[in-house]
Amino acid sequence: MKRKLLGLLRCPVCKSELDIRQDKSAADAAQDSIESGVLECASCRREYKITDGIAVFIEDKTEKTEKKQGV
Ligand SMILES: [Zn+2]
Repeated sequence: MKRKLLGLLRCPVCKSELDIRQDKSAADAAQDSIESGVLECASCRREYKITDGIAVFIEDKTEKTEKKQGV
């Protein structure tokens, strides 16, 4: 995913801007494309994974993860 696209992406739930958190070290940060990492919504705190350069916007997956803890 192109780093430039980050500014265009919005949270599908609340339409706020997304922050990037990258898994890898600073070597990746110098590159123009993002292969893996996590997009975090600044407003509702939902997280969306970037896998193989593709952002995965699956909303209900992030919610279920929290509820599982109580079982
Ligand atoms: Zn959001």
